[in-house]
Amino acid sequence: MKQIYAFEREEEFVKYRDVTQRFGEKLSEYQAILEQQYGLTELPKGILWTSEELATTVFSNIPIPAYTNKDLIYMSPDVKSWRRILLSQLDGKDLPDVQEFYENYSENQVFIILAHELTHHSDLFLDEFDDESENGIWFEEGMCFYLPRKILLSEKEFNEITNTEIQLFEAFKDKYGKHSLEDFGSLSYQGSLSSIMFDYWRSYLSVKYLVEERANNNVKQVFNTYHQWDREGRKVPLTEYFGIESLLK
Ligand SMILES: [Zn+2]
Repeated sequence: MKQIYAFEREEEFVKYRDVTQRFGEKLSEYQAILEQQYGLTELPKGILWTSEELATTVFSNIPIPAYTNKDLIYMSPDVKSWRRILLSQLDGKDLPDVQEFYENYSENQVFIILAHELTHHSDLFLDEFDDESENGIWFEEGMCFYLPRKILLSEKEFNEITNTEIQLFEAFKDKYGKHSLEDFGSLSYQGSLSSIMFDYWRSYLSVKYLVEERANNNVKQVFNTYHQWDREGRKVPLTEYFGIESLLK
């Protein structure tokens, strides 16, 4: 993958050179794991390193400076701006543990976001980048957080991010949790970051449940069920196929 630097000022390129290099090295290790075990065959052409502002106002209108299409992963490597963005998910709620976690959000946790974007390129996911309507998108989004967290984080780090997202899910479920998991992204028009991220927390926790409570930690088995659902013609929503329609209500 090419490393492309898109910054407005030379100082920014200099400032982020070390962290992007560290991220790049760690990503090659994760890439090898995805290639050997999780169906990664075709890489994006590169990673476009950029600032939060350019990622969210010039290259796209997506409110978060990490996303991927078929060709490129766009990513801000700035840990400080990630802390500020993720703190805004609290949206005025008093959740001291969550606040502390994001105030100290580590470089390694930011790296997981980059790893999430690469995970989307695995062939184990059945929908293509240009598909109009994607069924089971919650499964892909949830798994794209579950896999890198499980593979790359220490148990302590894994539990910290999981507990944070459980607390956020609980705090916002009455406000944002009325729609089905199948309607992933349907709240995006509401604008607040917590309304957008709500579907990610819930999808992650659902996939974690499927792997750890239903499949005895066998990720492959969960993918097999997802593939079977597809081969049988997607006759029912994926949540129903997994029998988790009423999970996380
Ligand atoms: Zn994603």
